[in-house]
Amino acid sequence: MKSFSYTKADNVAIAVNELAVDNAAKFIAGGTNLIDLMKENVARPSRLIDITPLPLNKIEDTEDGGLRLGALVTNADTAYNEQVEKRYPLLSKAILAGASPQLRNMATTGGNLLQRTRCYYFYDTATPCNKREPGTGCPAINGFNRIHAILGTSSECIATHPSDMCIALAALEAVVRVTGKNGDRNIPFAEFHRLPADTPQIDTNLQADEIITAVDLPAIGFTKNYTYLKLRDRTSYAFALVSVAAALEMDGDEIIEARLALGGVAHKPWRNTEAEAMLKGKSATRENFLHVAEAIVRDAEGFGHNTFKIELAKRAIVRALKQATEMEQK
Ligand SMILES: Cc1cc2nc3c(=O)[nH]c(=O)nc-3n(C[C@H](O)[C@H](O)[C@H](O)COP(=O)(O)OP(=O)(O)OC[C@H]3O[C@@H](n4cnc5c(N)ncnc54)[C@H](O)[C@@H]3O)c2cc1C
Ligand code: SF4
Repeated sequence: MKSFSYTKADNVAIAVNELAVDNAAKFIAGGTNLIDLMKENVARPSRLIDITPLPLNKIEDTEDGGLRLGALVTNADTAYNEQVEKRYPLLSKAILAGASPQLRNMATTGGNLLQRTRCYYFYDTATPCNKREPGTGCPAINGFNRIHAILGTSSECIATHPSDMCIALAALEAVVRVTGKNGDRNIPFAEFHRLPADTPQIDTNLQADEIITAVDLPAIGFTKNYTYLKLRDRTSYAFALVSVAAALEMDGDEIIEARLALGGVAHKPWRNTEAEAMLKGKSATRENFLHVAEAIVRDAEGFGHNTFKIELAKRAIVRALKQATEMEQK
């Protein structure tokens, strides 16, 4: 057991400063991922800075008609928040598809965005892993890779991002608000998580001295035609093999706008805006859905055990679009 110190921060500036002076320190929020990583000796922080006393636990309206989710709001409080249920039902549905009630009671907005991959090799310190120890190799590429990525992979890493919440946030085009030593900045959701390329150890574009303070949801919440379809080995308490967040704006049978984000297939929530654009002005037919699904998986690559995901993703996209379009007819 590696010893570490523990402090609490009740002010964002102090929390940022504490992190800036010790690059081996880590924030802890709900602890549902970080504590597991510490128990497995994957994360070895010198110090835990408990950020739960920070005043970041509110859900509030924004000036531009959207909703701000504080970084410390629990996943359960977000999913069951009256405004989220009414204005962003896709987000509620995605959160409730993840983990378990107990975990959702602890897990926070910020922690969910920064949870690490569930790649088995990443958790097993007896094996090499480029994400855990850069330059050691990626045993998943030629190993057991059933849960691994099929899109946006690199020769260094084929891990996936495991979150459900983030897939809905990607489709909704949320914005991540962060604060660091150099002040505040906003990161569009599509630019928050990274593809592995040759730096798989870096999951996101959050800087080392930055804290997530909130996630902003834009005014448009796609309340009429949406779905979150999660396919997994068990019907509950399992990570997605493939998931699809679909959000549509429709005029009768015509699709005016389409957003599609995929989970379980890449190192980040996967969107292909060119493929989404193919649905604009089209009617809601299986043929049109299949066309867009084929475009999304066109560059997908399987690694053996996970090759089934290519066909699974295609079918999941078609099914999600069908579910989302049929809602309006109810
Ligand atoms: C058994 C199990 C099953 C699960 N199943 C699912 C599932 O099906 N779907 C799913 O989406 N998730 C699932 N999860 C993951 C769960 O959602 C995450 O563990 C949780 O969201 C992490 O949030 P947390 O607040 O506990 O983060 P923590 O563990 O406290 O922190 C995680 C990371 O985020 C950092 N951090 C936290 N908050 C901030 C902040 N505000 N600013 C900067 N850094 C911060 C920490 O330093 C740490 O590196 C599962 C977890 C477990 C244990
Ligand atoms: S896929 Fe990524 S996380 Fe998994 S073993 Fe390879 S480098 Fe490590």
